[in-house]
Amino acid sequence: GKVDHECEVLVLGAGPGGYSAAFRSADLGMDTIIVERFATLGGVCLNVGCIPSKALLHTTAVMDEVKTMAKHGITFGAPKIELDQLRAYKDSVIGKLTGGLAGMAKARKVKVVRGLGHFLDANHVEVQLTSGDGQELTGQKEIIRFQKSIIAAGSQPVKLPFLPADPRVVDSTGALLLKSIPKRMLVIGGGIIGLEMATVYSTLGSSIDIAEMMDGLMAGADRDLEKVWEKFNSGRFENIMLKTRASKAEVKADGIQVSFEGENAPKEPKIYDLVLVAVGRTPNGKKINASAAGVAVDERGFIHVDNQMRTNAPHIFAIGDIVGQPMLAHKAVHEGHVAAEAAAGQKSYFDAKQIPSVAYTDPEVAWAGLTEEQCKSQGIAYEKGLFPWAASGRAIANGRDEGFTKLIFDATSKRIIGGGIVGTHAGDLIGEVCLAIEMGADTIDMGKTIHPHPTLGESVGLAAEAASGHCTDLP
Ligand code: FAD
Repeated sequence: GKVDHECEVLVLGAGPGGYSAAFRSADLGMDTIIVERFATLGGVCLNVGCIPSKALLHTTAVMDEVKTMAKHGITFGAPKIELDQLRAYKDSVIGKLTGGLAGMAKARKVKVVRGLGHFLDANHVEVQLTSGDGQELTGQKEIIRFQKSIIAAGSQPVKLPFLPADPRVVDSTGALLLKSIPKRMLVIGGGIIGLEMATVYSTLGSSIDIAEMMDGLMAGADRDLEKVWEKFNSGRFENIMLKTRASKAEVKADGIQVSFEGENAPKEPKIYDLVLVAVGRTPNGKKINASAAGVAVDERGFIHVDNQMRTNAPHIFAIGDIVGQPMLAHKAVHEGHVAAEAAAGQKSYFDAKQIPSVAYTDPEVAWAGLTEEQCKSQGIAYEKGLFPWAASGRAIANGRDEGFTKLIFDATSKRIIGGGIVGTHAGDLIGEVCLAIEMGADTIDMGKTIHPHPTLGESVGLAAEAASGHCTDLP
């Protein structure tokens, strides 16, 4: 049949994994095409994920902080919220970044074919061209012949089948649209995405219930970190309902009526103006006809890869959310680089010692490497160094000393194997722990590294000193 485009490397999907892979591929001299159905590059992360959520979280964190200035003798009036302007701000942030990516693609001569792609066979993808900012199909099709392909088609929110189709029932994408500020809001799912959106909406004025099936929020984080977050936020939410499952929902005149089941479930159904479903994400593996190319997709929609990000088909790679947990942008980016380099014949491997996780809530909760819970369940002997921010001059000056920095060292080698930080800017601070883990730093390396005073970053050095038994004086 007719072929509209040919390339060495076809990247399917332009999220953090896809654009990173495509740019690296082009930089290595390979003729590269990206297929993306959305109008902009950047995928979930830039358009409806990491970036818009952080634009809103920054705004609401400032609003919250301003309120605390009263005890410093500075008072402000009640905030006046111009929702259109806030939305425009968020969109301008996205626009700067997606515009930047478009420029980077152009500079590298990476061609972008806009549409929904699926495999025809091991060397051809058919693209149903799309238009508008959504996914309207134009009815036109183009065929691309490729030598190698990198699948980066990402994931999408898990749906709860019992929830009615109604504009008042949204996923994270809908919540980020910020159509209005609901009076009563239910967040189903107490993971990072749900808690971040709950933080934004509560500061904007919503009264929020959180329903979580498990017996704790922020799964994956050590409980001591989560507890600090929970205590600090005790007044923020109406109800945090653990071991509670939303089980039924009905559209009523005055809202969405939700019934619950479980140990702490409210007996009577409750009415909400907005219901956010944040119960996880499912990979898009089943939607790209991968089997036509000989690529195996498991029953959940994940594609399995080796440490060069190679699928069972040797010329096809896969990266990002579609290859498994953790579904995080920074993981996708690094995998994208490995896949492009491997496609170019380089001996690159994905061999991360750690992949950090961050909840950009208030306070932030960040962790990297092994958690204490993992050490315990895997029988790893460890030593812990903990520095409470109540002893940090900077945290006290900031009026935010509720947090702590915890480092986890292998008991024998004294090398760092993990760490967790809860407090303002924890997400920025965890980067040093990530580097230390990758470098195999030990308590002495970290404790004797001179950190600037007075900073929150100092807490990392001091936690290492605490572990090595040399923590004598506190700032
Ligand atoms: P995606 O970003 O999912 O991109 C896949 C792309 O492929 C999409 O643009 C899609 O349109 C396109 N596509 C799919 N199928 C086709 C097809 N057949 N044809 C053409 N195009 C196709 N991660 C973090 O690290 N930090 C955060 O702070 C963070 N915050 C988040 C907040 C929210 C609300 C959400 C939802 C996610 C957040 N994440 C965060 C997760 C992060 O967004 C993902 O891990 C990341 O985007 C995954 O990148 P990816 O390249 O695998 O795929």
